[in-house]
Amino acid sequence: MIAVDRSRLAALLRTEQERYAATHPRSRELYAGASNLLGRVPMTWMNMWAGGFPLHLDHARGARITDVDGRTYVDFALGDTGAMAGHSPEPTIKAVTRRFADLGGATTMLPTDDAQWVGEELTARFGMPLWSFTLSATDANRWAIRLARLATGRGKVLVFGYCYHGSVDETFALANPIHGGTESRPGNVAPPVPLDLTTRAARWNDLASVEAALRHGDIAAILTEPALTNIGIVLPEPGFLDGLRELASRYGALLMIDETHTFSAGWGGATTEWGLRPDIVVIGKSIGGGIACGAYGLSEAVANAVTRHTESGVADIVDVGGVGGTLAGNALSLAAMRATLGEVLTKDAFAHMIALASAFTAGAQAAIDEHELPWSIAQLGARAEYRFTAPAPRSGEESAAAADEELDAYLHLAMCSRGILMTPFHNMALMCPATSAADVARHTEAFREAVAALRA
Ligand code: PMP
Repeated sequence: MIAVDRSRLAALLRTEQERYAATHPRSRELYAGASNLLGRVPMTWMNMWAGGFPLHLDHARGARITDVDGRTYVDFALGDTGAMAGHSPEPTIKAVTRRFADLGGATTMLPTDDAQWVGEELTARFGMPLWSFTLSATDANRWAIRLARLATGRGKVLVFGYCYHGSVDETFALANPIHGGTESRPGNVAPPVPLDLTTRAARWNDLASVEAALRHGDIAAILTEPALTNIGIVLPEPGFLDGLRELASRYGALLMIDETHTFSAGWGGATTEWGLRPDIVVIGKSIGGGIACGAYGLSEAVANAVTRHTESGVADIVDVGGVGGTLAGNALSLAAMRATLGEVLTKDAFAHMIALASAFTAGAQAAIDEHELPWSIAQLGARAEYRFTAPAPRSGEESAAAADEELDAYLHLAMCSRGILMTPFHNMALMCPATSAADVARHTEAFREAVAALRA
């Protein structure tokens, strides 16, 4: 394998940046004019764009996005999984229109029958018998953590280095590489308390680090994705997830699986696909087809423990006890979830999406091999991601060490100028039901061109 020539990379990046600026004048103008927005964008993450300003959206449908400069892209970013069902899928449009326009009552603090339908569907897919709804995966994690603390009477969560579970204070933690103590992750915005008061951090694929943390006897829940997906994709090694289950049970902690991204593994997420046995499952983003949503599912045992504490008056989940939100579980969100789960993210859709992700992975891998690049690509069902290191990293820490901002920027812009959008936060590509084999072939060709230029 041969390292990338840095001066060639720098020159290619400059060319792509100039091209991006020249071909997106309207996006640039609107960005410059957004003077009443913090960071000139509606949410500060939207500044994560290699070209210095984001594309300004005009319209989107299926697997396509068109910007205000009239350029259309094959969208493999899919709103970082929020649009995994594709942009504005027809069944979701119909259900949302019916609820919002025909029936009315988007948000009333009253139940509708879509809720039981969605609960039953989530039980069929993920196994947890009891569900509650939120408007984001962040909130689902936040509230489920509170319930895990209530159910176990313990104060801390165990997370893995470089995990991401939303803006949840407890989760921005790393294990110090020298003494192993838990500390705040660099860049963490103003944590309310030092991280070691709420959290113990362990290393992914390292059961010894998990057991060392659990031995303190103060962990309410191990919170993890079944594969890390927010520091590239770091897959679990054989036996790791079984080991987590076994250790959680042995030390009296709950196993809380965040399926928000790993839902790409299949119709029932990695939980069902890989036969996991969690105590709590969290999901968000995709299941509303673009309408704000989230959910957490509890095992019977966890739900019973919560009920014991609510019935005894120790905790309040009906009034302002710290779990719930005014618009959570609203009728519009549930109508969207019912249509999206029932008619869009079906078993057939997953088969199609996973086959395409396999083709995407094979295409990128062939180009990596041909050019002897020291990179790897990991597939997780309907998603795939390349990382600038080989063999594939085994932990969040190893994956973080392989970050390469210049390469990232170059590849994102090179793909963008060839009509392809990759997730700005990652080199991640996700397939939706509307993605086609031709879209994947287009990526393969663009990627081949971009890496060939690095070697020319
Ligand atoms: N869990 C995981 C695994 C995620 O990747 C994310 C977002 N990237 C979240 C939770 C939070 O989702 P949201 O920002 O929609 O609340």
